[in-house]
Amino acid sequence: MLLTILGGCGAWPGAGQACSGYLVEHDGFRLLVDPGYATVPRLLERVAADQIDAVFVSHGHPDHCADLNPLLRARALRDDPPAPLPVYSPPGALDAVLALDRPGMLADAYVLREFTAGDRLGIGPFDAWTRLLPHSVPNAGVRLTAGDRVLAYTGDSGPSPDVVELARGAHLLLHEATYADRVPEGSQRHLSSAREAGRQAKEAGVRHLVLTHLQPGTDAVAAQAAAGAGYDGEIGVAVSGLAVDLS
Ligand SMILES: [Zn+2]
Repeated sequence: MLLTILGGCGAWPGAGQACSGYLVEHDGFRLLVDPGYATVPRLLERVAADQIDAVFVSHGHPDHCADLNPLLRARALRDDPPAPLPVYSPPGALDAVLALDRPGMLADAYVLREFTAGDRLGIGPFDAWTRLLPHSVPNAGVRLTAGDRVLAYTGDSGPSPDVVELARGAHLLLHEATYADRVPEGSQRHLSSAREAGRQAKEAGVRHLVLTHLQPGTDAVAAQAAAGAGYDGEIGVAVSGLAVDLS
């Protein structure tokens, strides 16, 4: 299983950067997880739009799904459009982004497969266990298994025993860390700090932690240090172009 980070900014894309977007490949199958703002140009540097086999969206915030629109346009507006793209999302999460173009324009470009967080999905070679994690809108964390490799991704989530269960024993945990040390009051149930991500990675016994969704202004070095206070495994920070081979 190969993970390639397309972007790792939380909330909005910093200068020259992109929001959440992760290409996960196994056995020639390409799954795009969370096509957030500005991820499609990074994606197209690596693969053509018609080479994506499925999309998984954790929740409906635009920093996690806005670039579904240009991805569908890149498939629908060519002379020989590819087969409809399977798009997995929590119910209603994509209503806004799918309404950006005139009704029907992109209708043949995708097939929407809405699921309820907690469902177990088969997506190509991936076994995808979803889990409802605490955020301001329904957010599905996902545990992707292919062969004997496991990648867990939180989407956006406050600290929760459910994150630990989702990530239990994973080879890699991709964990939202909007802030390094402290989440502002009012967001503490819905977002995490890098410090909390490290604590949860340790409790889950994961081999490798990658911090993502750092809000522009959050210092990556400080975030890494904060996560390292509670976790002694390998810690990375998601930036466009970072690739991790889990095999
Ligand atoms: Zn969010």
